[in-house]
Amino acid sequence: MAALTNVTVFGTGVLGSQIMMQAAYHGKSVTGYDVSEELLAKLPQRWEWMRGYYQRDLPDYDAERFDRAVAAIRTSTDVADAVAQADLVIEAIPENLDLKRKVWGQIGQAAPAETIFATNTSSLRPSDFAEATGRPDRFLALHFANLIWSHNTGEVMATPATDPRCFDAVMRFAGEIGLVPVPVRKEVPGYILNSVLIPFLNAGAQLYVDEVADPADIDAVWRIATQSPFGPFQGFDIVGFNVAYNISRNSPDPKMRKFADMLKQSIDAGRSGLADRAGFFTYDAEGNRGEPVAAWKLEN
Ligand code: NAD
Repeated sequence: MAALTNVTVFGTGVLGSQIMMQAAYHGKSVTGYDVSEELLAKLPQRWEWMRGYYQRDLPDYDAERFDRAVAAIRTSTDVADAVAQADLVIEAIPENLDLKRKVWGQIGQAAPAETIFATNTSSLRPSDFAEATGRPDRFLALHFANLIWSHNTGEVMATPATDPRCFDAVMRFAGEIGLVPVPVRKEVPGYILNSVLIPFLNAGAQLYVDEVADPADIDAVWRIATQSPFGPFQGFDIVGFNVAYNISRNSPDPKMRKFADMLKQSIDAGRSGLADRAGFFTYDAEGNRGEPVAAWKLEN
């Protein structure tokens, strides 16, 4: 199968914008689709935010290469136009099954027959919306981790219906854009990363909902005792509250649904995590953790 050169990314939010830059910085021809020009107009800000991290985190950072990538990225609010030339469509729209089905239906109708489809879903089972694409044999998951340029895993997960040649092509593509491609051999919601990460984050959330300890103290114990760089609440900040909210509000556990309500209040107050430079902690422009946000402190 030929190399996947033209990439269209659906959803230009936290992950979609990072996927676009990762692919463009590695020489792919990138188009980003979102539902309005207003949303697409936020991209230049996101590039400048990312530029700071690229500079800080990549020893071989090349400013001209970054500029070339920004200049080459094309955007569209028209589905047919966005996918007309696509070898690969990567979907990074909100974590909502009905919405994924609807949007994959639109993409499936508009894309050329040979286009390969990949979802970046964090917690849904790709099989549950594979049929909506109209070509389940060309559909699979390519899962990125937040802060892609340095947290560069690419978990490639097939459904039982995926053509192995598409799986191999996406494994190769992941390597070409600077990821470490990891084959996930059975379909599990959450891949390897989230199968471990989500129970870890939820354990922290439940301690807080039970008023056992403040988020900052829960994180401090984890960081100090395990020498890990961050605890569960900084983890929520990195993931972003929008994704965490969508996962916890659908939880069968009432404690997690209560936690979802708390996240929603914080989102509405403009503190949705690292991208807002405030969530459970505040962050400086380079993403270094600052003070805990006072609103989360338990009353004595
Ligand atoms: P986000 O809310 O930041 O971005 C979603 C984007 O999709 C927004 O720009 C929104 O305008 C756009 N969108 C909404 N409706 C759309 C539609 N009908 N068509 C096209 N675009 C539409 O969310 P995110 O954090 O980037 O997450 C996106 C996906 O990536 C989710 O499936 C999530 O589970 C997954 N993911 C997130 C992370 C993370 O750490 N944030 C990590 C890995 C995977």
